[in-house]
Amino acid sequence: MVSRVIPVEPFDLVLFGATGDLARRKILPGLFHRYEVGQVPQDARIIGSARSEMTPDEFKADVRAAIEEFTPETSDRAEVLGRFLGCLDYVSVDAMSDAGWSALKGQLRPDVVRAYYLSVAPSLFAGIAGQLEKHGMAMPDARIVVEKPFGRNLETARELNASLRKFFREHQIYRIDHYLGKETVQNLMALRFANSLFEPLWNATHIDHVQITVAESLGIEGREAYYDHSGAMRDMVQNHLVQLLCLTAMEPPSKFTPNAVRDEKVKVIEALDPVAPSDIARGQYRADEGEDGYLDHVGDPQSRTESFIAMKVRIANWRWAGVPFYLRTGKRLRARVSEIMVQFRDPPHTIFPNVEPVQGNKLIIRLQPDEGITLRTTIKDPGPGGFRLAEVPLDMSFAEALGADSRPQDAYERLVMDVIRGDQTLFMRGDEVEAAWAWADPIIEGWERTRDKPFPYDQGSSGPEEALMLMHRDGRRWRQIGG
Ligand code: NAP
Repeated sequence: MVSRVIPVEPFDLVLFGATGDLARRKILPGLFHRYEVGQVPQDARIIGSARSEMTPDEFKADVRAAIEEFTPETSDRAEVLGRFLGCLDYVSVDAMSDAGWSALKGQLRPDVVRAYYLSVAPSLFAGIAGQLEKHGMAMPDARIVVEKPFGRNLETARELNASLRKFFREHQIYRIDHYLGKETVQNLMALRFANSLFEPLWNATHIDHVQITVAESLGIEGREAYYDHSGAMRDMVQNHLVQLLCLTAMEPPSKFTPNAVRDEKVKVIEALDPVAPSDIARGQYRADEGEDGYLDHVGDPQSRTESFIAMKVRIANWRWAGVPFYLRTGKRLRARVSEIMVQFRDPPHTIFPNVEPVQGNKLIIRLQPDEGITLRTTIKDPGPGGFRLAEVPLDMSFAEALGADSRPQDAYERLVMDVIRGDQTLFMRGDEVEAAWAWADPIIEGWERTRDKPFPYDQGSSGPEEALMLMHRDGRRWRQIGG
């Protein structure tokens, strides 16, 4: 199956932070891919911007190097890349001073879609938004895209929202959570709401529990200072894991429109119960032979920041009463895996004599690696030697199902095109971010009060023993990371 590419309207995209890591690794390669497949029109313009003084040609040389480094080689890449670079320009501006802003305005066309992508530190959002307004560029139909982290608590998230809303209205603001741009995450919505098979089973009557895992095999290399100020709860749970939980747990929206979908997600967040400290296990990876641990990496032997967290979360509503959602994320774990596992209840009665009790089905939604969906079902073990049961996967890998020429899209490709299309469905609304912080803040404040230290865990493991106990206590087991 080859996906259909519908070109977007001509646009001017100003990429602030165009010389930064995210722009070079994800945003510009993503735009290049969309150009390669014909979705970005030939007359689109991408204007890079940062404080660094450089000519447009120097910027193009830098983008060429980034694309050669971060996109796969193809037979016609050099030719397409040459044309893509023709869409690029560069203007130096500083968020903190007036220099360069008039020149930037002079680059923009009045009659095309206009988007400002702020791939810069959040401390610059207010400054850039203010400069756009001051120089007459915050038009009512312009779009502004902001990156994570969106605040470090409810108060700072509110401040960021207020600083953006001073000059832009909510329908112009695109808050990125790149997990929402992943193909499988959208497939979760298709699976739930475009099939009649699952929805009748998607509730406390049939589901025993849900596990959401985002495990990294890498540590915090290159982000030590940022990470130690943040930790797994702020960096991953408050945004990405809560978003995955929302899409798994939300009620069917009445239609697939940005506000209908986001209204349902907000309801889930608002229904989250406070989490008891005994339902949380925090960890820090310890030093191994020859390998520094978390405390060495951040250079602070007293750091109480968690590089791992596992928690049991409850959603206090009719559909999910009594169904725990176990969330788990961490660094330096045994594999790089992101997945949602829905564990259905065991059959109420086994009719097969002399066999092990039949286990409930599992639906596994894999975000990475190898995006796809697996339904683990029970069948008869083949052969004439008696009647035994075996668990087998009904597996769908998107790469296989969609064909070799359907390269999985990076989340950023989809999200940038959605900005140009003016579709906010996969972006977080202001009240949604605030609701997630309102839930997370008391948990974090609790640790700050008690000054508890995270439990150490081995690098390459599944996290601290206490995380396993969290499940064992409930008579359940984590799915093996990478298993
Ligand atoms: P980065 O590598 O530090 O790049 C920052 C960019 O901002 C550079 O282009 C820098 O260029 C520009 N800049 C800095 N101060 C400026 C100012 N006063 N006025 C105008 N431009 C300025 O950061 P990054 O890793 O790309 O991250 C960018 C944003 O994305 C951050 O909010 C980050 O949290 C978020 N994010 C990053 C990643 C990732 O994988 N990197 C993932 C998720 C989210 P000059 O120094 O030349 O001005």
